[in-house]
Amino acid sequence: MGMSIKPPLTLYLAAPRGFCAGVDRAIKIVEMALQKWGAPVYVRHEIVHNKFVVDGLRDKGAVFVEELDECPDDRPVIFSAHGVPKAVPAEARRREMVFVDATCPLVSKVHVEAERHHAAGLQMVMIGHEGHPEVLGTMGQLPDGEVLLVETVDDVAGITPRDPSRLAFITQTTLSVDDTAAIVAALQARFPAIVGPAKEDICYATTNRQASVKAIADRIDALFVIGAPNSSNSRRLVEVGRAAGCAYSQLVMRADQIDWRAIEGARSVGVTAGASAPEVLVNEVIDAFRERYDVTVDMIETARENVEFKVPRVLREA
Ligand code: SF4
Repeated sequence: MGMSIKPPLTLYLAAPRGFCAGVDRAIKIVEMALQKWGAPVYVRHEIVHNKFVVDGLRDKGAVFVEELDECPDDRPVIFSAHGVPKAVPAEARRREMVFVDATCPLVSKVHVEAERHHAAGLQMVMIGHEGHPEVLGTMGQLPDGEVLLVETVDDVAGITPRDPSRLAFITQTTLSVDDTAAIVAALQARFPAIVGPAKEDICYATTNRQASVKAIADRIDALFVIGAPNSSNSRRLVEVGRAAGCAYSQLVMRADQIDWRAIEGARSVGVTAGASAPEVLVNEVIDAFRERYDVTVDMIETARENVEFKVPRVLREA
C-alpha cells in the first residue's frame, strides 16, 4: 500500500480537442518535403504554433525562419498554415525557389473571399488580432488600405471607410465565436450595407473546440488548455472557459506549467487542447494528474470531426 491516499478527481476531457485538419496537413507537408528533398527544408514562420511540434521537425532537418530573405535560393521553403501575404510567393517565384504553401484551405478560402469583394469594388473590414500571422497574410492579399482591421466592438466606431455603403467584412478563422458575433452586429449597425459571410469565417475546428469547452465549463473547478501563448485559437479557449463560468482557466504548454497549489482542493478539472497541440501533450497532462490524484476520466464529446485536407500535388508525386 502507498503511504498516502490520493484525493479523487474527475477529469473532464473535452472533445473535439487538439489537431485540426489544417494543422495535420501542414505538419505532413513539412515531413513529406523532408522525405522528398532531404534536409534542410526551410519553413517560413512556425509551421503551426506549437514548440513541441516545431522542435520535433527541427530535429528532422527543418529550418525555421521568419522571412523569406533568410532562405537560400536553392533549398525548398514551406509557408506556414497561417497563410502569407501575396508578396511572399511572388518573391519566391522571382527567385525561382521551390516552395510549398501549407496555408490551411480554410484560410485560403478567406483570401479568395477578400479578392472577390475587392474585385467587386468593396473595401474590406477584417475582424482579427493585430500582428497575428494569419491577419498579416489575409490583409496582404490586397493592396495597402483596402483592408481595415478591427479587434473589438469599440474599434468599429473608429474606422473611416472610403465609402460606408461599399463595404464587406471578413474574419480571422480562430476568433471567439461569441465576441465575433458582437463585433459583426456592431459593424452591421454602423454600416447597414456591409456584406459578408453568413456568420463569420471562423473555422469548424475553432467552433467545435469552443463548444466543447462550454459544455464542461460549469462543472469544473479549473480548466487547462494545452497550447502555446502565440496560438490564437488556444488563447480563445481559455477566454471561453472563463466566460462560461470557470474562473480558473489556464493556458499551459506542457504538464510542468501546471500550478498544483493553485488548484488545491479541486474535485473536477477540464482538459482541452488547441488546434496546434499534439495529443501526446494531452496524455502527459493526464499522467501528471494521475500521479497526484485518483483520476476518473470522463470524455465529453460535443461533435464528431471527419475533415481531412490533401497535401499539395507536388508532394504526392514520387
Ligand atoms: S484552426 Fe481552422 S483555419 Fe486554422 S489550421 Fe486549423 S482548420 Fe485551418
